[in-house]
Amino acid sequence: MNDLNAQISATATVFGRDPEWVLSFDREGRLLTLVQGQELFKRALDSRVFRRDRREGRRWELLPDRERQEVLAVARELAAHTAADPATSAGLRARLESEVLPWTLDRLLAEEQRFLATYRPIAILPPDRYLAVVLQATEGCTWNRCTFCSFYQGRPFRLGAPEDFRRHAEAVRDLLGRDVARRRGIFLADGNALAVGNRRLLPLFALAREHFPGQEITGFIDVYSGSRHEPTDWRELAAAGLTQVYIGMETGCDELLRWVDKPGSAVELAAFVRELKAAGLAVCLILMLGVGGAAWRERHRRETFETLAGLPLDHRDLLYLSPFVEEKSSAYVERRRAEGWEPLSTEEIEAETAAWAADLRARGLRVGRYDIREFVY
Ligand code: SF4
Repeated sequence: MNDLNAQISATATVFGRDPEWVLSFDREGRLLTLVQGQELFKRALDSRVFRRDRREGRRWELLPDRERQEVLAVARELAAHTAADPATSAGLRARLESEVLPWTLDRLLAEEQRFLATYRPIAILPPDRYLAVVLQATEGCTWNRCTFCSFYQGRPFRLGAPEDFRRHAEAVRDLLGRDVARRRGIFLADGNALAVGNRRLLPLFALAREHFPGQEITGFIDVYSGSRHEPTDWRELAAAGLTQVYIGMETGCDELLRWVDKPGSAVELAAFVRELKAAGLAVCLILMLGVGGAAWRERHRRETFETLAGLPLDHRDLLYLSPFVEEKSSAYVERRRAEGWEPLSTEEIEAETAAWAADLRARGLRVGRYDIREFVY
């Protein structure tokens, strides 16, 4: 049997007999991950459990309930054996006894109810915000009509009262507990929370930071909604803690944007990015690779690169390349079928993504991958 290794830090408890198994727990003592050989299991905040094979990429498969319970039980058993092993260090044993072992299977499964009482579904986050504290200042998306997007379907845009937001922030703080030590920044959700006017948004910023002091704030915004803010609004938001905004640019080709029913244009985007940069904010632009299939491939690439070349992006800014995923029952698919063309294959989209990444990096831009199938909160 391999030696037991352990890392006992301020943010997590990690131990195991690698490569046989490795466990990690948050500071409340709740399971985060179990690695067994090539299999990786991850518990989401709502206690759903996902699996992936490390040889097969980064996409998660949701486990059915029986398998979920088996994984949680195995993790607990390994933790209990480790605590009972005389060779275990006093520090690790103390962590296991005080934090991990009090979490019985039933108590861990009940986290789902606590999550549902705290959050509406968290549809998506940018990959560098998976560890953020998510605060839902609004529900849904102000537009909600892009043909390819199902993130907020059936959820009309709604801004709650500040008192509701205060209760929500308190519930989030309770739910996270000491796991707040592992969290980085506040992500103001849902899809377009930053579209709200400053008169109503600034008090929400203040409440967010009252509950999570010192944390930077980030969030999504689309070009159309963002352009309706005054330039001075962004400076006020930056002064109140906003550091970065994530913009679903999708493409620099206006005609393709119209084809997917997304408002905005390359000219509006450029003006908006300049406003944000002038306010001292970092900008993250999300681009969809493979949208529009072969029919749009050349224009999508050429016009996007032309648009990007005119933006004042610097080392703080980031371009996310997001391999396009077709939603089966979407208006996008209906429209594509009506026009009689097939989507790009997975391999073609990956090749396109790699080619864009190499080209954009050669131009000195920061590039990351944003695969919506990898998201688990
Ligand atoms: S603006 Fe963004 S969140 Fe809203 S429908 Fe379009 S892609 Fe979806």
